[in-house]
Amino acid sequence: MPSPRPAPVQLVIVGSVGLDTIETPAAKRTDVLGGSASYACAAASFFTRAGMVGVVGTDFGEDYFGIYRGFGFDLEGLQIREGRTFRWSGVYEANMDNRRTLSTELNVFAEFMPELPRHYRSAPFLFLANIAPALQLRVLDQLRRPRFVAADTMDLWINVALADLKKVIRRIDLLTLNESEARHLTGERALIKAARKLLGWGPKHILIKKGEHGAVLFSRRSTFLMPAYPLEEVHDPTGAGDTFAGGFMGHLAAGGQVNETALRRAMLVGSVVASFNVEAFSLDRLRKLKPRELARRVKEFKAMLRV
Ligand code: AMP
Repeated sequence: MPSPRPAPVQLVIVGSVGLDTIETPAAKRTDVLGGSASYACAAASFFTRAGMVGVVGTDFGEDYFGIYRGFGFDLEGLQIREGRTFRWSGVYEANMDNRRTLSTELNVFAEFMPELPRHYRSAPFLFLANIAPALQLRVLDQLRRPRFVAADTMDLWINVALADLKKVIRRIDLLTLNESEARHLTGERALIKAARKLLGWGPKHILIKKGEHGAVLFSRRSTFLMPAYPLEEVHDPTGAGDTFAGGFMGHLAAGGQVNETALRRAMLVGSVVASFNVEAFSLDRLRKLKPRELARRVKEFKAMLRV
């Protein structure tokens, strides 16, 4: 019998897949599932059919695959290579805002060459999560005609791969980065000036993340402010930006439309998914999250924003 054709993917997500060791003032966890692609795919899977593109080593245990399968996103683009999986460790200071990286072990991630399975190539939405800009370009070249492409980046790439990063920025619709990265990349202190400069490099939208203070979407003719959902306690902020972006892109992909209203709604939903994520380490909270809990918090958050 011929094998069934895989369901088409609406949103392709490429990024890191790693095992993280995280220390907060309250607790420490070793080798928990992390990486930008893990967080973004998990978040997106609440809204749309996402397909992961990444790499793991032969040490990546069945338990971790089980967690991925629980979310139901497509794993065909996840390569398994001889060697150890990417590992990262970091420690949070008492305020949970400042984070110090203790170590980064690239392992199989050092040789990663993203390859999109055939049924990913016509996906209308693409999220290039945090990986080397050269790899982001490689993925862009493999997609037929995506309708909307967003990309994330980090200080490391601004320092060591600026030329490639600028090539990526020229080819995307939305660039997302945090406020210190936006300042670093543009040399502008005021975020509004930084965003204006970045808009001049090509993208129609710049989404600047401000941690517990929310996020701002700068477009050519509008600016939109989204606060973070207020939480009593944050247990682990790792992956907040990636779950925000995954929820945002997943929600956009589900609606299929890209306009100001759709972007604003997607930001609200992204904030809510990120707020659940930081309530526990790794993907522990998202694994338990029920769609009705998500819907309830979206409703509650909307009420907080009404004027
Ligand atoms: P965030 O909290 O949004 O900065 O994302 C944290 C995730 O990024 C962790 O799960 C890490 O595994 C991953 N990460 C850390 N350093 C890197 C890097 N150099 N490249 C790609 N991913 C990384």
